[in-house]
Order: sequence, then C-alpha cells, then structure tokens
Amino acid sequence: MLEQLKENWEKILDNVKEDQDLSDVSFNTWLVPLKPVSVEGNVVTILCPVNSIGLEYIDKKYKIFIQVAIEEVIGFKCELHLVIPEEKAKKAPKKKVVDADIIKANLNPRYTFDTFVVGSNNKMAHAASLAVAESPAEIYNPLFIYGGVGLGKTHLMHSIAHFILKNNPDAKVLYVTCETFTNELIDAIRNKNNITTTEFREKYRTIDVLLIDDIQFFSGKSRTQEEFFYAFEALIAARKQIIITSDTYPKEISGMDDRLTSRFDSGLTVAIEPPELEMRVAILIKKAGQEGIQLSDDVAFFVAKHLRSNVRELEGALRKILAFSRFHGRDITIELTKEALKDLLSVQNRQISVENIQKTVADFFRIKVADMYSKRRPANIARPRQIAMYLTKELTQKSLPEIGELFGGRDHTTV
Ligand code: ADP
Ligand code: MG
Repeated sequence: MLEQLKENWEKILDNVKEDQDLSDVSFNTWLVPLKPVSVEGNVVTILCPVNSIGLEYIDKKYKIFIQVAIEEVIGFKCELHLVIPEEKAKKAPKKKVVDADIIKANLNPRYTFDTFVVGSNNKMAHAASLAVAESPAEIYNPLFIYGGVGLGKTHLMHSIAHFILKNNPDAKVLYVTCETFTNELIDAIRNKNNITTTEFREKYRTIDVLLIDDIQFFSGKSRTQEEFFYAFEALIAARKQIIITSDTYPKEISGMDDRLTSRFDSGLTVAIEPPELEMRVAILIKKAGQEGIQLSDDVAFFVAKHLRSNVRELEGALRKILAFSRFHGRDITIELTKEALKDLLSVQNRQISVENIQKTVADFFRIKVADMYSKRRPANIARPRQIAMYLTKELTQKSLPEIGELFGGRDHTTV
C-alpha cells in the first residue's frame, strides 16, 4: 500500500489542490513538503517537515482533504497520522527504549544540548550541566540553575536528562514541576487515586535523576518543603543526582526553609544571565536554521536589537516572521520583519521612559517632579526617589551611572 501511495502521491496532492482551489503559495508551503512514510493497517504516517505550528495548521486545515483525496485516487480509506521530523526520528526502532523513558520522564524532545546555543550569558550553566550529564551524582550534587524567565533553565535541565538517558536508557529520570510535586503530595495526603503518602515517598526516593523545575513555587508551602527535604536527603545519601532550577539565588527565595536553601547551595549553583546582543543574534540565526531558513544578519540584528528581554520572546518573534513570510510567499527582509512584528514593536516603542517613571511616581506620592533630581533628602522625598530609580532599572535599559545622572547626578553606588 505504501508503494501505491508513493506512486500516486503527486496526483493525490493535486487532487486536494484542485478540490480546495488552493493558491500555489499555499500548495507549495503546506502540501508539497508532505511525504507518506509508512502504512500500518489503515493508518498512514505522513512526514511533515514543518515546525509544530505548521503541523497543527496542516492537521486542522488539510488533513481531512488529504484523506478524502487518497480515497478518491487509490480507493484507500485511511486515517492520517502527521509527524514532524523529530517525532519520526523518535519512531526509529533503535532509540525506542530511550524514547519510552523520555515520555515517562516528561521531557520535551526539542530541549537537548544540540539545540542549545551557548554564549557568555550561559557558558557556566551549560558547562556545569554537561558535566553533570556526563557524570551524574559524581561532581555537582545538587546542580542548582537560576535565572530569569525564558532564559533556558528548563531547556538545559531537559538536555541533561536526555543525555543521561541516551547513555543509560535504564536510568530512572523524572522531571517534575513544583506544581506537579505539590499536587501529587496533596493527592497522597487525601489518599486520592489510592496513592498513599508512603507510595508518594517511595516514588521520589527511588529515582536516579530528579529534575525539579521552578522551585521558587515551593515558597510558603511548608508541608511540601518538608516532604521535598526528606526526598532530597534520601536521594543525595543514595548518591542520586538532583537538578533544581529557580528564578533566584537559593538564599533569596522567599518563604523557603533555611534548612532547604542551605542544602541547595551545597552542590554547585550557577546563573543564566539575559543574553547580550550578539547572543540574541546567534540564537535567532540558529533557530531559523533549525527550521531550514537562512536568516540574514541584518534581519537577525534588527530583531535582536528590538527584543531584549529573553529567548522565549525571540522565538515568538521568529515564529511570527517565518509564518508571515510563508503565508505571503515573500522573502524575509527587514521590511517584512517590520510588518510581521508590527504589534510587538509598537509595544517596544511605547517603552516606558525615565521621565514617565519620574512623573508617575511623583504624582503618586504627591511630590514635585523636580524633587526626583533635587539634592534634598527628607525621607518623604528620598523614598519615592529610590522607588523611581528602582523602577527605572527594572523597566528601562538604562545603566546604573546613567540612572544616577538622570536623578540629579547621584553616584551609581547610591543608585
Ligand atoms: P526558562 O525555563 O528559563 O523560563 P526555557 O528553558 O523554557 O526558559 O526557555 C524558553 C525558550 O527559549 C525555550 O523554547 C528554549 O528552547 C529557548 N532557549 C532558551 N535559551 C536557549 C539557548 N541558549 N539556546 C537555544 N534555545 C534557548
Ligand atoms: Mg522553565
């Protein structure tokens, strides 16, 4: 049946094109790249060399028509199973064991070391992660990775797990978010789903590699912290690897038992910083490359200059650009990029100015804007001024000396 499908594939796609009256752009973008790769029973697997958004789109918009066309052209009533290349690789028999584990371990198949771009902002975290991946429970235990949102903590964590599972498919690797951990604990306490607290403990104490993401969400949950503490102690004592991420340095996580935070710091603690311009450019070019698109330097610089906060935002922008270019069948130029990112860029343009902050804070505290840069320092003025300086640091790209200057020539250490 596969042979017959392959022989008639062009005809089948043409049939869809005619029936649906597709434009050449849509046809070339969505249908031409599709290839039937296997038939099992009445399930036909189709390889779709697109990103997951493209996949979803093809699934919603074209799948049913392709099924109809197959029936019309070769009389085969089938169901289509669409896969993107990674998923197809996953089906390769040799890797089966690993992949079964990966599913159990809750890992994202895209988050591997191969797809992680290394730069000065994450060099340390990357090196430490790779070292832990190569020698779990032997060097840095726990490994604690912290940094702002969207900077690659989860990605790195999953990379370690993939690496370990590849070397040792039998390793018991478990990735959990703090939310999952907490919910499972609550279920166990309530004896919901017939899980007892003993079973809960058992589960978390018999793992080889425990990945626990966004631990700051344990904040204020003392029972969860206590349970985690015992799991933590048991695993470390049994020489099992623990990897933790958080949005801040261990000691700065509020509402967390000191006993825990001091343990977190007992292995290695590494930070991921926000990426600098060159890194943002590199990430954009690499991510585009992964989609089979060669992004020009000027477009990559343009995007990187305008979007500064984190990698997730860059990915979102890139997706928009690629989709826009596909839909309109146009090359990716700065012009197209501006159009595709119109909404994002206008938000950037409305970026908060220092004057804006000074005025808003002054209004709120009912002081004069001039007091923001005056030399006077009674508390009722100093405090609002400090708040305004803090907000300026948080909300604008100004450096400490620049802020000092804008607030009446204050020293950057004061700022
Ligand atoms: P965090 O957990 O720190 O909030 P994530 O790991 O979820 O961030 O990363 C957000 C997105 O950015 C993910 O899609 C991830 O693949 C991507 N990303 C982050 N850092 C990098 C990097 N250095 N190289 C490649 N992709 C990255
Ligand atoms: Mg994360």
